[in-house]
This record gives sequence, C-alpha cells and structure tokens, in this order.
Amino acid sequence: MKTVSIILPCYNEETVLPYYFEAVDKVLPTIEGFSFDFILVNDGSKDKTLETMEKLYQERNDINIVNLSRNFGQNPALTAGLASSKSDYVIMMDADLQDPITMISKICDKFAQGYDVVNPHRASRKTDTRFKRNSAAFFYRFTNSLEGKEVLPSNVNCFRGLSRRAVDRIMALPEKDRLLVNEIPLVGFKTCQIDFEREKRRAGKSKYNVKKMVNYAFDIISSGTTKPLYLPIKAGAILTAFFSFAFVMLLLFYFLGHFQVLTFDIQPLVLFLILAGIFLGVSILLFFIGILALYLHNVVINTRDRPTYCIDYIFRKEDKEK
Ligand code: UDP
Ligand code: MG
Repeated sequence: MKTVSIILPCYNEETVLPYYFEAVDKVLPTIEGFSFDFILVNDGSKDKTLETMEKLYQERNDINIVNLSRNFGQNPALTAGLASSKSDYVIMMDADLQDPITMISKICDKFAQGYDVVNPHRASRKTDTRFKRNSAAFFYRFTNSLEGKEVLPSNVNCFRGLSRRAVDRIMALPEKDRLLVNEIPLVGFKTCQIDFEREKRRAGKSKYNVKKMVNYAFDIISSGTTKPLYLPIKAGAILTAFFSFAFVMLLLFYFLGHFQVLTFDIQPLVLFLILAGIFLGVSILLFFIGILALYLHNVVINTRDRPTYCIDYIFRKEDKEK
C-alpha cells in the first residue's frame, strides 16, 4: 500500500480544523490502495490552532505536527511540511476546506496512473471577488507573456499532489526563499491537471490581503523570470532613438526658421515639455530602480543563507505509538 501525507499549513485556523477532519474522515476510508496521514504545520498561530492540533494528535493515530517558532508564511510552512514528509506521495492543501476533499481521491487516481505532479486547476473563479478574478487573470497573462510560453500553469496554486521523487528534487533546489508555484513546474516530471471548483472558506478569514497578494505576485515574477531585467535596456534604446530624432528635428526647424511662422508663443510649450520630460524621466527611472531592487532582494535573501523557517518542535505519529 502506498503512503500519502496530506500537508496542511495553518495560521489561525482553530475554527476550521474540526470541520476539515469531519469532512476528510468521510472520504479517506473509501480510497483504496493508499494509506493517509496528516502533517499539520502550525505557522505561528495566535489563536488556539496549536491546542486543536495537539488534541487531534492525542485522539488520532495519523497526525504529525510541525510547530514553527513564529509566523513565516504559507510557502515556508509548506516547505517545512515537505521537508518533514517521508511518504510515497504528498498532497498540499488549504486547511479551510476551499480545496475540496473529494479531490483527494482524484489526485490518488492520477498517482496510481504514474503521475508525479498533479495540478488541481480552478475551472472558474466564481467564488472569488471580481477584483481577485481580474487581477489573477492579468497576472497569469502577464507572467506567461514575459517568457513567451506558459511557465506558470494558470489558476493552479499551492494545492498539489507530488510524488516522492518530485518532492526530493524540489527540496534539493538550492534556493532559500521557496515559491512552490515556480519550483514545481521547474523540476518537471510527469504532470497532469484536474479541473475543480474552489469552495468558499468554511470558517475563519483569508490571510491574503491586497498588499500580501501584490507582494506575492512580485515575488513570483522576480524569482521566476529574469525578463523584466531587460526592460531598462530596451526602453533606453527606444527612448534614446526617439529623443535623438526629436532633437535633430527641432534643430532643423530652428535653423530653417519654421518657428517664426507659429502664431502662438513657443516658450510656454517648451517649458511644459521640459517639465513633462523631467517628471516622466524621474518616474521611469524610479520604476527601473524598483525592478532592480526586486532582483537585488532575491540575491540578498538567497545569499545570506538564513533559514526561511525555524521549527520549534515536531510530533511524529510514530513517536506516539511507541
Ligand atoms: N497560511 C499559513 N501561513 C500564513 C498564511 C496562510 O500557513 O502566513 C495557511 C492558511 O492557514 C491556509 C493556507 O495557508 O491553510 C492558505 O491561506 P488562505 O486560506 O488564507 O489563502 P486564500 O485561500 O484566501 O488565498
Ligand atoms: Mg484558503
């Protein structure tokens, strides 16, 4: 029998965890050929999530707890879960029942067919706000257009099924600051996609506000592709050509005396153009410095060799059985 660890990153999820286990207990016994356990990663929750996890650990024999020393974020929490897994397969999903439990059996069917990476794909974004739906559509179009091919599968997030060799390959990547949405397609392997409809959160609140979503999007772009780094040189070449042409034309007009036939005063126009040029130039420069700063941030994070998460303690199900 193949083993599957279900990794649940949890930040302030005390209200949803009981619902999750109530739902999962109805589905898992019907799946044949696989045995399941859970890796509950407590990502520095401030509510009673850890107490709820420890209660589950006492009551059941399929619970592992990875307690992080503070809040590190969803990706570090998932990475801590992956690092502590030993099973043949893992499934990473939200603890809030947004990722339907019924998908677990579909993912296992794909594992049985020999797939290493199973990507649950959101067929629609009906349960999202209009803002989230439109910004996500723009984000996927933009990131994939940068590379000119689909590097990020659209509408696939951290809800995934992975085989042991895919997990091991991802964990062997040298980067410190892991963004699993970039790293899973990077390692490749036999991959498939299954459509699903994302549910509404069963209880509690989303941990992603607009600021966090924007930062997450910037992180994905800057760690996924270097294409934006070419933007300043391309824009520089185009602007230099444009302004050189404009300057030559102005000189020609000046010396040929064309300005004298104008019926309005040229000076306010020149002043306006100079000011507009300064503002535009400063904005473009700040934008380009911002792009460089995003990449510099990645260099700093990945070279200073700090851990991206710290573990307080791990409870393993085997320790309990002893
Ligand atoms: N999460 C986490 N650490 C964080 C933020 C989120 O472990 O700092 C977990 C959270 O508890 C949930 C999952 O990551 O199980 C996804 O978060 P959420 O449901 O808030 O995101 P959304 O589904 O709204 O995008
Ligand atoms: Mg969620």
